[in-house]
Amino acid sequence: MQDRELYQQILGLKSPWSVSKVALDVLQQQVDVFVEHPSGTKFCCPECSKQLPCYDHTQERQWRHLDSCQFKTVMHASIPRIDCPEHGVKQVQVPWAEKGSRFTSLFERFAIQVLLATQNVKGAMSILRTKWDQTWSIVERAVARGKSRKETTMLPRLGIDEKAFLKGQNYITLLYDLDHSTVEAISDGNDTDSGIACLSQLSGEQIQSIEAIAMDMSAAYVKAAKQVIPLAENKIVHDRFHVMQMATKAVDKVRRGEHRQLMKDGDDCLSKTKYVWLTSFENLSEKQQAVFDATYDLQLQTGKAWAYKEMLRDLWTQTSAASATTYFNDWYRRVIHTKLEPMKTVARSIKERLQNVVSYCTHRITNAVAEGMNSKIMSIKRRVGGFRNRQNFKTAIFFYCGGLSLYPQ
Ligand SMILES: [Zn+2]
Repeated sequence: MQDRELYQQILGLKSPWSVSKVALDVLQQQVDVFVEHPSGTKFCCPECSKQLPCYDHTQERQWRHLDSCQFKTVMHASIPRIDCPEHGVKQVQVPWAEKGSRFTSLFERFAIQVLLATQNVKGAMSILRTKWDQTWSIVERAVARGKSRKETTMLPRLGIDEKAFLKGQNYITLLYDLDHSTVEAISDGNDTDSGIACLSQLSGEQIQSIEAIAMDMSAAYVKAAKQVIPLAENKIVHDRFHVMQMATKAVDKVRRGEHRQLMKDGDDCLSKTKYVWLTSFENLSEKQQAVFDATYDLQLQTGKAWAYKEMLRDLWTQTSAASATTYFNDWYRRVIHTKLEPMKTVARSIKERLQNVVSYCTHRITNAVAEGMNSKIMSIKRRVGGFRNRQNFKTAIFFYCGGLSLYPQ
């Protein structure tokens, strides 16, 4: 078989396209494949598909194709242009690549597979032997392609959460589909406007379909939800992990205060016990359990705060919002009569938003999916590296977490 025929088969070229020349550069480890069509071929207008004679050609273009063994393989062709009476002079669509791409569709497909498998743009670059800008252009095109294909689906269970971008107070807001673990929308910042900007990216139909939305207890997203989602008050569920985190932090605050007090009298019984009080009881190691038992028996404020924190956990095991409300009110009465100021602060904040805490018992959603995805996003941020701007960060989130159909046809 002649090399031209071989590449004709390998590239899957069909009439009118054929391979006119194959050149091998051993030093550069590159195969160059030149492709052409017979004169007199008619082509379709890319706008209206009308068959028209060739008007002229662009200058020769190149497309990187899948390697031939270890050799980089590059296709060369001049793209025909037609002169459509309706649409004017237009470049025709070549069958091996998408418009504007410097890669064949088969190469892009492979590159996307590598990028998804490595979750690492730099790692993918070394496998694909591409430059950063080239690789990134594949990511961007894949996301644009996926977004344009994405069908409007109903979103009954959502989560909204902030994510730090770069160090410091630089945030983006993410909207998650909790049923499919995908990121549906992203906006800049983490205030009320950011929440509104994120939710407003959904269609009216999607907004109507929202049954429940998980969020932390910050006022910003509550306000945003109330502005965008009808009857939001019945749909907001404050994420149980955020609420429990507040209680756990309060236990730590009590411990630090008490430890300072005890140390004044030379009593170091709370030294090195921080993580004993922060860990769930069933997760304590044997050694921690021994420390816990010894310290708990001392009847310290820290032990009391810890016990109230543990008691609070049962709020989320209640079978209905009504029984959860009763359970909380009982817990609240006990806590509010103690001297555990940090714990009382938490109790008051929960009481203020109680309806949207106990709504968990109705909707049973948390942002755990979002938290899991956050760690994925963190690892993308670390591994992808070189995010020169926020836009690239967002694009990477959609590429890896958007649940998009990324591949070219
Ligand atoms: Zn046309």
